[in-house]
Amino acid sequence: MTAPIVARQVSKSFYGREEVRALLDVSLEIRAREFVSVLGPSGCGKSTLLRIVAGLIPADRGELRTSGTTGVVFQTHNMLPWLTVTQNMELGAKMRGIAENEIRGRVERLTETLSLRGFGKSYPHQLSGGMRQRAAIGQILALEPAILLMDEPFGALDALTRDRLNVELLRIWQERMQTVLFITHSIAEAVFLSDRVLVMSARPGRILHEVTIDLPRPRSPEAVRTDPRFAAHVAEISQMMGVY
Ligand code: ADP
Ligand code: MG
Repeated sequence: MTAPIVARQVSKSFYGREEVRALLDVSLEIRAREFVSVLGPSGCGKSTLLRIVAGLIPADRGELRTSGTTGVVFQTHNMLPWLTVTQNMELGAKMRGIAENEIRGRVERLTETLSLRGFGKSYPHQLSGGMRQRAAIGQILALEPAILLMDEPFGALDALTRDRLNVELLRIWQERMQTVLFITHSIAEAVFLSDRVLVMSARPGRILHEVTIDLPRPRSPEAVRTDPRFAAHVAEISQMMGVY
């Protein structure tokens, strides 16, 4: 079986007053059901890489192949303020022509899974930041994409909410087993979630290191936090990134 995400020697520049080289010869291969995170300094091209994988922008050079439908979750949600949470969660699936009762079932289950029960008739502005981001994830999961692309989805949330959503994300992923490409700037988050962590250089972004995370699954915050391998991975990656 071919990998759901394959990039070979992908490069990308933006042209304004001068050339901004965002990505240089980025190659990666993400296997089916693998959870891979990308870490790198701010401005190194992480979002550019994700947008190329999502097919939202073209690469200048190189080859990019994905197989299966993709869904993208961004740091700020894409919900329409005049629709309720349920309507927002149904919208994308409706636009893809999925049958009404199928959509209703999916959204009901997701409302449970994402702890949004009782808030289906609320409007986005009536929710907390964490709930809005859960609903935004629900919008994408309702499409049942084979590939889930996430660009710092919890970056705007407080630490506690972020930890809780990490746990929920792992639980959902363990149930559905999509292929996930997850962008973050939190080393601990990347280690906690991932099978593999890719570390990028400063701009132009290239992949400098690849770290396989050998923590057993299913993972819970308690078990991971006390596992010496967690601390070792965080230290190893921090050193790679020049944090200390
Ligand atoms: P990251 O997500 O790692 O912070 P980005 O991929 O957003 O980095 O950006 C990489 C570089 O490309 C930055 O210098 C950014 O300013 C530049 N860039 C990103 N998108 C555009 C664009 N649409 N037009 C011009 N420059 C861009
Ligand atoms: Mg970014």
